[in-house]
Amino acid sequence: MTLTERDLKVIWHPYTQMKTAMPPVPIVRGEGACLFDENGKKYIDAVSSWWVNIHGHAHPYIAQKVSEQLRKLEHVIFAGFTHEGAVELAERLLEILPANQQKVFYSDNGSTAVEVAIKMCLQYWHNKGQNRTKILAFKNAYHGDTFGAMAVSGRSAFTAAFDSLLFDVEFIDLPDKENITNLQSLISNLSHQTACFIFEPLVQGAGGMLMYEARYLDELMAHCRNEGVLMIADEVFTGFGRTGKAFASNHVTEQPDIMCFSKGLTGGTMALGLTTCTQQIYDAFLSDDHLKTLFHGHSFTANPVAIAAALASLDLFSDPSTAENIQRIENAHRQFALKIKDHPKIKTIRQTGTILAMEWQTGTDTSYFNALRDNLYMYFLDAGIILRPLGNIIYILPPYCITDMELAYVYSKIEQALDEI
Ligand SMILES: *Cc1c(COP(=O)(O)O)cnc(C)c1O
Repeated sequence: MTLTERDLKVIWHPYTQMKTAMPPVPIVRGEGACLFDENGKKYIDAVSSWWVNIHGHAHPYIAQKVSEQLRKLEHVIFAGFTHEGAVELAERLLEILPANQQKVFYSDNGSTAVEVAIKMCLQYWHNKGQNRTKILAFKNAYHGDTFGAMAVSGRSAFTAAFDSLLFDVEFIDLPDKENITNLQSLISNLSHQTACFIFEPLVQGAGGMLMYEARYLDELMAHCRNEGVLMIADEVFTGFGRTGKAFASNHVTEQPDIMCFSKGLTGGTMALGLTTCTQQIYDAFLSDDHLKTLFHGHSFTANPVAIAAALASLDLFSDPSTAENIQRIENAHRQFALKIKDHPKIKTIRQTGTILAMEWQTGTDTSYFNALRDNLYMYFLDAGIILRPLGNIIYILPPYCITDMELAYVYSKIEQALDEI
């Protein structure tokens, strides 16, 4: 039996209709921006393996640090105990995050980082004896697949089976020049009952790589600050260089109260999540009353091996060559966008940093499930490129180490697809 046949006997894949999906591609190794399957076929990973990889696959430096850590300490309960890596990572991250971020709470993926952020906000007001339980979020938001994270995400086909059980959230439009004043007065009307506002800064990833301008986010944040509404910047996707700066929050002057990270945090090698917060939030949980404790934790909270990967990734991220690569990809994307923007099959094309997204003209059906999506996916897979369209939206967000030649190949295949599909 092939690996794929064995897989289909025992495995249920994420986000996959197992009845109709193509059999999974059996990957045996990775190197740089590429993955290789059982038959030796090479694929350029243009989506960084579900947006997590930033320095390339099987990076030898991260591998070495992880293997050293495994021989030293693989795991320790994080209630009542600590370890060197956890402290060092927190120290180093707080140095580069917005200055108001003062404490780090570890978990093990993006959804849990969001769950922790929501609980921090709700209990912050609870501990203060104020009845603020409403949450604001953007339409089309995506914050994860666990129940709390799902509740603050836009209602969609993904959430339909659970909608009646999700807590009520006030969904607002992305801010722009026209609606900013309306959004601000809406927030003012609700502020006395609102615990927090959660958002993906600058780019809504899973919602379709929807992008909005930093200056209107800044205005919205300033307004939340004035109204006492806590702000959660979900940087699970945008963190660690994706948007051209280290964090998307670096594009605005206002600072969020809470930030969430995962995905690129370990360079995409291990599962780790973390939530950071201000001193003000942390202080609201300090008490002789045990009921004011944040009762939250996961078995693998602050796993030392995952943290070793995060520290190694941070070393690589701090090297000047990473910023140069990010700039290089940003420039290449910009030139390519200029070249194809007037193609009749391109409806819109947009870019933030290393993320380039283009919306294809479809007939009538623009849903996530339209047939164009599957055709495009197969077309690129055949050509040795991993692109995973969100409906009719194709996006590229490669590991920063992708070479100019690999990038040129991806662009050329997109051009070819525009003419052929
Ligand atoms: C992917 C993602 C999450 C969820 O992270 P998981 O590790 O997949 O649970 C949360 N927020 C944003 C913005 C994301 O892109």
